[in-house]
Amino acid sequence: MSNLTDLTISESLAKLRKKEISPVELTNAYIERMSENNKYNAFITQTAEQALVQAKESEKRYADGTNRPLEGIALGIKDLFCTKNVRTTACSHIIDNFVPQYESTVTQNLLNDGALFLGKLNLDEFAMGGSNETSYFGPVVNPWSKETKLVAGGSSGGSAAAVAAKMCAAATGTDTGGSIRQPSAFCGVTGIKPTYGRCSRYGIIAFASSLDQAGPICKDVTDCALMLNSMAGYDAKDSTSSKVAVPDFTSFIGQDIKGLKVGIPEEYRSDGLNAEVSAYWDKATEILKAQGAEIVHINLPHTKYALPTYYVIAPAEASSNLARYDGVRYGNRVNGNGLDELYINTRTEGFGKEVKRRILIGTYVLSAGYYDAYYLKAQKVRRLIKNDFDEAFSKCDVILTPTSPIEPFAIGDKKMLENPINMYLNDVFTVSVNLAGLPAMSLPIGLSKNGLPLGMQLIGKSFDEATIFKAGYKLECGANFVRM
Ligand code: GLN
Repeated sequence: MSNLTDLTISESLAKLRKKEISPVELTNAYIERMSENNKYNAFITQTAEQALVQAKESEKRYADGTNRPLEGIALGIKDLFCTKNVRTTACSHIIDNFVPQYESTVTQNLLNDGALFLGKLNLDEFAMGGSNETSYFGPVVNPWSKETKLVAGGSSGGSAAAVAAKMCAAATGTDTGGSIRQPSAFCGVTGIKPTYGRCSRYGIIAFASSLDQAGPICKDVTDCALMLNSMAGYDAKDSTSSKVAVPDFTSFIGQDIKGLKVGIPEEYRSDGLNAEVSAYWDKATEILKAQGAEIVHINLPHTKYALPTYYVIAPAEASSNLARYDGVRYGNRVNGNGLDELYINTRTEGFGKEVKRRILIGTYVLSAGYYDAYYLKAQKVRRLIKNDFDEAFSKCDVILTPTSPIEPFAIGDKKMLENPINMYLNDVFTVSVNLAGLPAMSLPIGLSKNGLPLGMQLIGKSFDEATIFKAGYKLECGANFVRM
């Protein structure tokens, strides 16, 4: 038999239910993989002992027939989700000793369904970044790296790398402007950002509250459906959580896509688009067409404003959310003469460069005199971007685009680090989805000539993850991507 860690969740569950393998055996295989692969810097906290206690409980449940939907499945958790009694850092020095006394709703949902946790995964500090290089714990190494160490993408770089390197069966991620989809694309795995409101934000450390959504990063489309079934649902503890019923997402896997209208947005063929990415985009279009989908050309005319709009709104909300880290109520404190100095010293030492940049931008765009010129304008453009999607979805059922305009780049790449705008430009295909609150999946389409994974993105209508799963599964079958 192939290695146990090669199995997808659906394959593992089939074997667990038939008692061909045991949860303890499966968990041990992942623990071994996890400890062998520290070189990727994906896990920053490992909870192997706790995982084995949970696996033993799962063992009993399989024996007495009380097994739950994800019984004995070993997961990694992005270190932005509060986990009871397990250190949760957001990969920031300012809270690197924070041990929550409560569990986030999403992780609690997974635990209630029998999943177990191997530990906490690296991310960009407070999820701000697109390469995992802003983490206080250092960058994650993309498992697909050849001679040069490459970035895993960000901010959920630890999650994507851990799934790619088979250090866990699947992982949780969060996506504010692309943080589930872009690292999934860079690491050759599949991730979905659900509709805003699908998953509760309770217990997830906030970056930009009107954009943040949790979602799974998995080995394939079917596993994403299984994970999202468990993660999603209304939660009274999050006022923006939706009461829309959660269907069984696995029921859409394998469904016919004949006559499905797939929109191709003209504006995404921008100058910066890598030629290989563009060729794979055509290939993905052909795959869906061969399955009976109808291709329609659509327009998203405000696309060019998406990045500036996002980089006004996200920092504005971040500056407000991060005001709570003042050295008084949370995390680390650096004393000073008087309260002002205590704030200054704590925040100077506690936050990294990128987080400080966002706080400064956010405070600026919210300040009197600039609020109208920047923040208010950005909110108006956000509406226009949403209107573009509404208009497009009157002509199509799902939209197909690349996930990232480029392939994974080297850790420490000067072009990206010296000018943050270059890093922000990589988010061009993902941020508008968050601004409009829509669901979108990234899945691997093939390898570049450098042997690196490239991803495609499927964007759905609000609360229509179902169509994404239908089309995503067909695309996955046609792409035939070979996992690591
Ligand atoms: N790369 C984007 C940013 O830096 C998105 C981050 C995210 O989705 N958390 O803001």
